[in-house]
Amino acid sequence: MYRTHNCGELRKENIGQRVSLCGWVQLKRDKGGMIWIDLRDRYGITQLAAEAKSTDESVVKTIDELGREYVIQVTGEVIERYSKNDKIPTGDIEIKIEDIKIFSKSETPPFTIIDNTDGGDELRMKYRYLDIRRNPVKNALMLRHRVAQEIRKYLDGQDFMEVETPYLIKSTPEGARDFVVPSRMNPGEFYALPQSPQTFKQLLMIAGMDRYFQIVKCFRDEDLRADRQPEFTQIDCEMSFVEQDDILNIFEGLTKYLFKTVKDVEIDYDFPRMPYSEAMEKYGNDKPDIRFEMLITDITKDVQGKDFVVFDSADYIGGICLENGIEYSRKQIDKLTDFVKTPQIGAKGLVYCKYNADGTFKSTIDKFYSQEDWKAIAEKMEAKQGDLILILAGAKERTLHGLSELRLKLGNELGLRPKDTFAPMWVVEFPLLEFDEESNRYHAKHHPFTSPFDEDIKLFDTNPGEIRAKAYDLVINGVEIGGGSIRIFDRDLQAQMFKNLGFTKEEAEAQFGFLMNAFKYGAPPHGGIAFGFDRLVSLFGGSDSIRDYIAFPKNNSGRDMMIDSPSAISAAQLDELELLLNPKGKE
Ligand code: ASP
Repeated sequence: MYRTHNCGELRKENIGQRVSLCGWVQLKRDKGGMIWIDLRDRYGITQLAAEAKSTDESVVKTIDELGREYVIQVTGEVIERYSKNDKIPTGDIEIKIEDIKIFSKSETPPFTIIDNTDGGDELRMKYRYLDIRRNPVKNALMLRHRVAQEIRKYLDGQDFMEVETPYLIKSTPEGARDFVVPSRMNPGEFYALPQSPQTFKQLLMIAGMDRYFQIVKCFRDEDLRADRQPEFTQIDCEMSFVEQDDILNIFEGLTKYLFKTVKDVEIDYDFPRMPYSEAMEKYGNDKPDIRFEMLITDITKDVQGKDFVVFDSADYIGGICLENGIEYSRKQIDKLTDFVKTPQIGAKGLVYCKYNADGTFKSTIDKFYSQEDWKAIAEKMEAKQGDLILILAGAKERTLHGLSELRLKLGNELGLRPKDTFAPMWVVEFPLLEFDEESNRYHAKHHPFTSPFDEDIKLFDTNPGEIRAKAYDLVINGVEIGGGSIRIFDRDLQAQMFKNLGFTKEEAEAQFGFLMNAFKYGAPPHGGIAFGFDRLVSLFGGSDSIRDYIAFPKNNSGRDMMIDSPSAISAAQLDELELLLNPKGKE
């Protein structure tokens, strides 16, 4: 037997027992003939002690050899500690070392394995197995495990069946590029890794499984950010004989259950539901952070016609109102102006107006707007004396995006987005289609299996951009945690959808014939949702980076720094796959 206890387990009650522990040497201290060792494993840290003169000579010799991260076994008696450590649960006791064995030695680790390490991101990713020994990473993985277990418990309790779906499939249209895998047995042909199990979960409904879930890897080849990884995990679900409300209720229930069991946060109200159009108008994006107000007001009609060409030539003019913002200094406002001019926002400038305490207005465009004009604008925006009005103008979508970013930035600066306050909500009534200028055609906003509102189907021929979808997103604190939809289950409607998305009959048949075919054999009305598992866990953990919650994440260029992947494959492998490389930019 290697050990009788783990390193987080022993307490006062164990004093007098002879125990064996195994673990890693965190630290060794030698003070005038007394030696202390902190022994670490997943469960905690236990202090070991030896007095050189009363300990067996060979044991002292082994202790002398020990360095950081050596893996050892120690046997000895549990004794009461002279100076207790109330910061760790084992802080009342220590082990008087009687015997010690080194299992394996360690080189000096490339960074120190402590909570606030000296290792940079890339180095820690290269040695992720060492990074995971650190409490913050270990705790993040433990949190992830706990959330996964609670999800299974809840969904199992609601009759969801966990079914695995294949990874070697063909393209699923979730809007990203596919990762492809060449097939040796079918030369010249490729599998695609699933962007999601979408089509399979729908087939499981046709197969009569009624309620399905899976905590599953999805693969999307897209540009990476802090909250994106090329492979990520979804809590993927599908249900039969349901309407939108049924799905929202079950998954609102799951969300509340997780908040309660994982965070001990009770949410005792119904999540607000906001149509997409309202989210866009008031918050400038489809994942509003409703922890704070500072809503956007459309003032296009109110400010045009005063000979200010910037406004007169703009498609849209909108403003936000910063409470008590007149105290903002010139320098602070200049900074905001610089911010809206950054390429990712792309505004030409920021117009502002101070609503002074004495009821007068002072703006950057006083030449064009009188005090009365401002009074009317302030009224429309519900501004109060002391407020600072900030205005952007330009193309509608871009300007709303700019106002949204400005609002979030101010929210951060003013401490209006505390990490321990949670504001869940549903965004509903998404548009079914969105027009893509580049390809000059409509794309599915969610995916092509999403059902339109019944009463909007007639708009397919006249105004496809206006069709609303039975689609919904769960948003918490401005983060899209999940999304789903009621699906089309009628073959003809699905065919019409493909047609509207620009698929020829043949293309639709080649790509989705299997699903259309299945619709011939009795398809139940169905719908589903998928939560981003990594995002949900990082929200619970209080970090903006999903990487912290993934055991072996990839860096911003999609590389696994530890195993050094992707990497070239051998000529023999290429040959076997009948592949020839055709590198870009080379003759
Ligand atoms: N497959 C969808 C996604 O990955 C989720 C769903 O519609 O259930 O976003």
